[in-house]
Amino acid sequence: MEPVTVIGAGLAGSEAAWQLARRGIPVRLKEMKPEKMTPAHHTPWFGELVCSNSLRSDQLENAVGLLKEELRRMGSLILACADAHRVEAGGALAVDRHGFAQAITEKIRSHPLITVVEEEVTALPAEGNVIVASGPLTSDPLAEAIRDFFPESHYLNFFDAAAPLVTFESVDMDSAFFASRYDKGTPDYINCPMTEEEYDAFWTQLCAAQEAEVHGFEDKNVFEGCMPVEVMARRGKQTLCYGPLKPRGLKDPKTGKEPFAVVQLRRDNADGTIYNLVGFQTHLKWPEQKRVFSMIPALKNAEFVRYGVMHRNTYLDSPRLLDRYYRVKKEPRICFAGQITGVEGYVESTASGFLAAVELARRLEGKPPVDFPRETATGALALYVSNESVADFQPMNVNFGIIPPLGYRVKGKRNKNAELSKRALEILDTLDVAGR
Ligand SMILES: Cc1cc2nc3c(=O)[nH]c(=O)nc-3n(C[C@H](O)[C@H](O)[C@H](O)COP(=O)(O)OP(=O)(O)OC[C@H]3O[C@@H](n4cnc5c(N)ncnc54)[C@H](O)[C@@H]3O)c2cc1C
Repeated sequence: MEPVTVIGAGLAGSEAAWQLARRGIPVRLKEMKPEKMTPAHHTPWFGELVCSNSLRSDQLENAVGLLKEELRRMGSLILACADAHRVEAGGALAVDRHGFAQAITEKIRSHPLITVVEEEVTALPAEGNVIVASGPLTSDPLAEAIRDFFPESHYLNFFDAAAPLVTFESVDMDSAFFASRYDKGTPDYINCPMTEEEYDAFWTQLCAAQEAEVHGFEDKNVFEGCMPVEVMARRGKQTLCYGPLKPRGLKDPKTGKEPFAVVQLRRDNADGTIYNLVGFQTHLKWPEQKRVFSMIPALKNAEFVRYGVMHRNTYLDSPRLLDRYYRVKKEPRICFAGQITGVEGYVESTASGFLAAVELARRLEGKPPVDFPRETATGALALYVSNESVADFQPMNVNFGIIPPLGYRVKGKRNKNAELSKRALEILDTLDVAGR
């Protein structure tokens, strides 16, 4: 059988190569390290963690905990190496980063069906099955080739400038109201009103909040053309009230008047389970975002499924380009996997590499696809990334907001999440995903 070419031996590429090989499919794994390093990679090892050594929560009440458990049950290489190199970190799965990456490298290098080719890929292979997993810091020549491969250059982004996302059910609708400005069109926006006193307190904290670190390789161009909300706020007390917090044409039905300021939330998915804070692109540290944005009365108990970010990140406008198997719609022999598809995070990148490889292996074996259901975290993530109804696509961590609700009430968020996980794992156990 012709080998599948996997580009990049990071988390997604290593997982994909392993899943193909364990199903008897030969792999040509191309990795540019150690000859050429991205600005964040520093070792020759595969599956290198570029920043934190934590793979986040390992609890089933947390969506990333569920995703890990799914991957474990399905025989993920990355999860097996993470579990074997775990260091104490409370409820999180943190690893000895060198032991972890070395274990992945040894497994990959010693598999008889995987041939490692140390070279920088500068063009998409013209033939054969390919999984592109070159990550958020894909080298420039390959990024250019990917951009040229798609019909529109704006389908490949180089920077992330995203506003936070919250779940609909966590917005206090006793405080907020649905309306569109001047009642034009349908009342699609959720409006979160603020009195002058509330706005003053919010503005003071916003101006003083701590910003995230700028990595050495991220120059100031990241922030050009998209001003963070905290920078806009520092220009003057009224600036936001003439910008994203403008109250004009938005009467609060409870008072019949325009509030002093209004934060608008726009629907982020077709189901209406997730909303984004309009105009709130931000570079604040995540705990600061939670602290300051929770001062907006309707968001006092908001559940943030993604915080705002502004950083270097190469990713596709996947809802326009990829299907639920992370395949390119216009040329299905090519799949993408990992952070470049717009999934966000170590475990999410691993999961996309896993799914892309398993579905490709099944095609090559002449079997029907697994079609991971939406109730599973693995399936929900792939369906979100390929969901055409997501208009303004931004990378996202896995979260329970993209998994269908239970359909019955469970008291308490932790209990509800535990039930969602239980359902997901029961479904997962019925799927035919075992390797050979
Ligand atoms: C600076 C930074 C910090 C991050 N911190 C975290 C964090 O703390 N926690 C978290 O969960 N997520 C974090 N992320 C996001 C994301 O989870 C990681 O980037 C993750 O490693 C993505 O996995 P991946 O497999 O898609 O890409 P990577 O792990 O980056 O793997 C891509 C591989 O492709 C190789 N490659 C690139 N171009 C080519 C080419 N042309 N030819 C051949 N090989 C190539 C690279 O050398 C690399 O080995 C961070 C991202 C960045 C950029």
